[in-house]
Amino acid sequence: TNNNQKLSRFMKSGIYRFQGSNAVVFVDPVRLLNLSYSHFRVTPSSYYSRFFQPNPRVSQNQTKRKRKRKQKELNQREQAADERHQRVKPLLMNAHECLLRADDLFPSLGKLRMGKFEPKSTVAGDEQSFVELGSVWQAPLFEISLHLNPDYRLTADCTSLQNCEKKNVPAFGSLVSNETDSDMEADFMNRRYIIPKHSSFYMSDLKQIHGLIPGKHECGFNLIVIDPPWENGSANQKSKYPTLPNRYFLSLPIKRLAHADEGALVALWVTNKEKLRIFVEKDLFPKWGVEYMATHYWLKVKADGSLISELDLFHHRPYECLILGYCYGKDEDSEYLSKLKSIPDCQVFISIPGDYSRKPPVGEMLREYIPGLEPARCLELFARELLGGWTSWGNEPLRFQDSRYFSRK
Ligand code: SAH
Repeated sequence: TNNNQKLSRFMKSGIYRFQGSNAVVFVDPVRLLNLSYSHFRVTPSSYYSRFFQPNPRVSQNQTKRKRKRKQKELNQREQAADERHQRVKPLLMNAHECLLRADDLFPSLGKLRMGKFEPKSTVAGDEQSFVELGSVWQAPLFEISLHLNPDYRLTADCTSLQNCEKKNVPAFGSLVSNETDSDMEADFMNRRYIIPKHSSFYMSDLKQIHGLIPGKHECGFNLIVIDPPWENGSANQKSKYPTLPNRYFLSLPIKRLAHADEGALVALWVTNKEKLRIFVEKDLFPKWGVEYMATHYWLKVKADGSLISELDLFHHRPYECLILGYCYGKDEDSEYLSKLKSIPDCQVFISIPGDYSRKPPVGEMLREYIPGLEPARCLELFARELLGGWTSWGNEPLRFQDSRYFSRK
């Protein structure tokens, strides 16, 4: 039947398009990530560690907090944020209804966490703190050792990696690439990392980001996804990763990272704070040379289909925003531009959030709006994971590549 076809398409692609709404999709980040791997797979249970068990007590507390909050007067900025929220609310409610009505997809949400073969992680020991390691004076001396598993040599193109032997390269402050058609493994400080086919990373602090600027102008990027470590009041957030004041992001060399001729689609994750939205509109995008195009929304649900928090919770909205803009290249009147003009506003994508405030991969959903020829050259700034066809930059881009999150296919 039609439903079965849709579901099986979703099982392969990780993207489910709802009937009758071209503005809403459901995504499974694990399936999307796994398109990058030839011999490994991200285990669903390591990605989805929350939102699979109903926890009624938490939601009761949240309701109480909300009531308390509502009695207070909102200040001017909070009022503006609330108005913004009221405008998108019907859209998000409609998206949520799409999910609840999809009687093929909806019942199978709870199964997304199950894998075919899910061995318990045998890897012991703590994860590496790349942020700490990268900040010591010896950082430029640390090497990472890349190798292709002998079993994969048949499928891989070995020419770029002299006979598939080990290759030691600096771990920090240089571009490390897997140009083969197979996953590679990398050893660093007694831990193993999985490097997907056709992925690259550049691990450095923001101070060294200029090292990422492509030497040849045709090597610029056509899609740049950015999830900055925005400052955030909650202490919980602070312990997860270091944050930076807004002014630091003004100096990100977006224009120089973008493809010089074709330009780039820029996708920026933002929080729901009004002050931040104004900063992006008035200061950040103009400074970067990016023209605003559209806003898309990531709606977060639990495995039982309910929203992770009530829509009206002021400081804990169940959605985040992705602001899209265009960084013009030299070919200003090219066909790329006419294509980009058509980015629809207010698209909604729904998913069950992973742990550690991981964002779902958005490249596939944005594909038709990316300028230039396929395959697009894609860059993620402040990344914590790698993807096939992408360059990942940040002070811990190998964070979620630790072999503990993977099993063999
Ligand atoms: N989109 C990512 C989350 C990014 S969180 C995901 O889905 O997993 C922000 C990242 O920025 C964190 O990894 C943090 O360590 C990094 N970061 C913070 N300060 C930085 C700096 N000065 N230079 C480089 N990266 C930094």
